[in-house]
Amino acid sequence: MPKLPDAERSWVAERQRLTDEIAGDALATSGMTGRRSFAPAIMGAVNRVPRQEFVPAEHRGRAYENVPLPIGHGQTISQPYIVALMTDLAAPTKGDTVLEIGTGCGYQTAVLAELAGTVCSIEIVPELQIAAAERLARLGYRNVALATGDGHRGWPEKAPFDAIVVTAAADAIPPALIDQLKPGGRLVLPVRSGPGRQHLILGEKGADGELRTRPILPVAFVPFRGPLEPS
Ligand code: SAH
Repeated sequence: MPKLPDAERSWVAERQRLTDEIAGDALATSGMTGRRSFAPAIMGAVNRVPRQEFVPAEHRGRAYENVPLPIGHGQTISQPYIVALMTDLAAPTKGDTVLEIGTGCGYQTAVLAELAGTVCSIEIVPELQIAAAERLARLGYRNVALATGDGHRGWPEKAPFDAIVVTAAADAIPPALIDQLKPGGRLVLPVRSGPGRQHLILGEKGADGELRTRPILPVAFVPFRGPLEPS
């Protein structure tokens, strides 16, 4: 395909092609994830969010490749298939309040905001948080609350949450996130599972307050930073 200037590209067609590719990946990974497809509402949300608005100008031409891309500050925008998978696992619906840790550019925030009642999202890098807030407001997302901070402590003032999605890899599940999840709530996060290895984990909180977890598939996320971890 020849390289077209942004204004002449058919983002709609590219987004549809990406959505088809995600559907193919969902099928290909069903042996690990236990799901052959993602809910139509999730695919619809991915198909509505303009990913080209979330990537830096120099990568805009690659916005609909099914890959992570650099967003500055050593961080990335997540791979669209992984965003769709995590959203499917978190299963947000209109009445839900969802917490995201690791806003980054705000792409996952936007996908969640298409589906949930309210999305609260925390980012540790102030410059990224400010840029994401400006971007999400410009794109018309009104049901999001953003803050700069360390996601290890969750967001107690906004708790409890129906679902929590963490988009950076921690060594262990931060206890505050389990505390701030409603009974019946879903926690989706990448956890380090060995040297240089990470697994995406789905946790479901029972009525008894216990979190039952299961590994979903190997992933590669940027590290979850915190006061005790290197920045
Ligand atoms: N959700 C983003 C992914 C961003 S990458 C998307 O849709 O593409 C993960 C983000 O987590 C980075 O921006 C990083 O700065 C942030 N992060 C890392 N550790 C964090 C912490 N302890 N608290 C909050 N954000 C954190």
